[in-house]
Amino acid sequence: MKRWVYPIILALSSAFLGRFLLYGTPNPHVVQFLVYVLVGLSAYAWFVYRLWGGVFIAAHNLVYIFSVWIYSDNRLYLTILIFLAGYSFVAYRLKRRYIQRCLHYEQSMTLMNEQSTEKELLYRQAESVRKALGRKYNRYHELQSIAEALTSLNDVQSVANLVVKRVFQLIGKSDACYLKLLSSETHELELAAVLPNDEDYVQPSNINDQFEHYVLKHQRPLLIEDVKKDFRFSFAGGRLSRVRSVMACPIVPGQSVAGVLLLESSQPDSYGQDDLRLLDILMDLSGVALTNAQLFERTQHLATTDGLTELMLRRPFMEELNEAIYRSEKSGDSFALLMLDVDHFKKYNDTFGHMAGDLILKTLGTIIEESIPENALAARFGGEEFSVIVPNVDHEKVLQLAENLRRNIESKFKEGRGRLKRKVTVSIGVALYPKQGHSDLELIRSADQQLYAAKHAGRNRVCMPS
Ligand code: GH3
Ligand code: MG
Ligand code: MG
Repeated sequence: MKRWVYPIILALSSAFLGRFLLYGTPNPHVVQFLVYVLVGLSAYAWFVYRLWGGVFIAAHNLVYIFSVWIYSDNRLYLTILIFLAGYSFVAYRLKRRYIQRCLHYEQSMTLMNEQSTEKELLYRQAESVRKALGRKYNRYHELQSIAEALTSLNDVQSVANLVVKRVFQLIGKSDACYLKLLSSETHELELAAVLPNDEDYVQPSNINDQFEHYVLKHQRPLLIEDVKKDFRFSFAGGRLSRVRSVMACPIVPGQSVAGVLLLESSQPDSYGQDDLRLLDILMDLSGVALTNAQLFERTQHLATTDGLTELMLRRPFMEELNEAIYRSEKSGDSFALLMLDVDHFKKYNDTFGHMAGDLILKTLGTIIEESIPENALAARFGGEEFSVIVPNVDHEKVLQLAENLRRNIESKFKEGRGRLKRKVTVSIGVALYPKQGHSDLELIRSADQQLYAAKHAGRNRVCMPS
């Protein structure tokens, strides 16, 4: 039923009832019917209408009761109407209490909602802080494991490989990662390690030169969110056109830069300040590891290499000789040991001085290195004596190789003008494993005997047992 129908019916039925009560009725059933209609409508109104609508109805009923009280003598209907008014009053009180409770409940609900939204917000904030802390913890845990891994390495190449691998993994978001180190000889940046290891990135290129030189010059990290928008750099085509963001960091172990690590991505805004900070810490660790590895390599080089000829020293050579024996024992292959001694070198020194003699020794070192196969190993065995291990050779092959070496030396120092144009020759004794000996001492003794045989036979020759 539409809301406006109710007051019309109420007004009409009230008017008719009033009319019948005051002036008599044609039919008592009509009065009865109208009273029921009024009772029904009043009850209905309390359910359907708001509080003030109900108050209006109660007021209407009261006015109606008074008018009937004054003008009517029909006590039954009057009683019903009084009951109706009482009912209206009680219903009004109940409804009012109910509405107040509803309001109170609604307020509580709103408050609870507000509180729960606030709690949810706090919870979300706490969750995001927890996640961020978790990420940080993971990163620093990674840093610790990288630091531990780096301390176990003592060669520069392994350190460079590990640094590139771990940075590439840890920072992520990159298409390539390069580590370039400053060469102590050329003072140029040289590629030490790169990932991914495919041709596109491994091939020497000057694509990232601008960034690397910027980092070298300013000695501080560089973050380019979008290379196309960065006014500091100008760009050519090629692969660089695919590079959108770059992050680079210098490696400064002490006072000066030792190298640069660079990450590139084809997406803009790949890196943030957090990544740069992490890279900076990683490069501090790497710098220490690289310095240690370089120091270790240099110390090892000094301990195993002769400063004049750049050949191996006697002690590490003896270790290598034993290694060669062990390998040949297992494989069944033979190898040769060559002993070289410069002919009449004392006389050379006495004639031209020790400095000139040193130069001869240095040049001999180079000629020996150039004349032997790549898998052979040469050493300065003593003052002006050299030794060579030549793996996988037979009698014929090694004889040919030794003769070739002797000839190379002879032809290099032919008499003529200039410091090297004074006659220098060598005598060579050769011993073959396992034919001439099974141990290092046996082999050296045998090669030495052949060397003396060559000296006695007139020098500048190769001797080897047949
Ligand atoms: P031989 O043909 O019998 O070998 O005669 P030799 O004079 O070469 O005799 P020996 O092999 O005993 O030579 C040793 C000389 O080598 C002594 C020394 O003057 C020289 N010598 C050894 N070590 C060096 C070095 O480091 N520099 C220079 N300049 N000479 C050295
Ligand atoms: Mg000698
Ligand atoms: Mg000599």
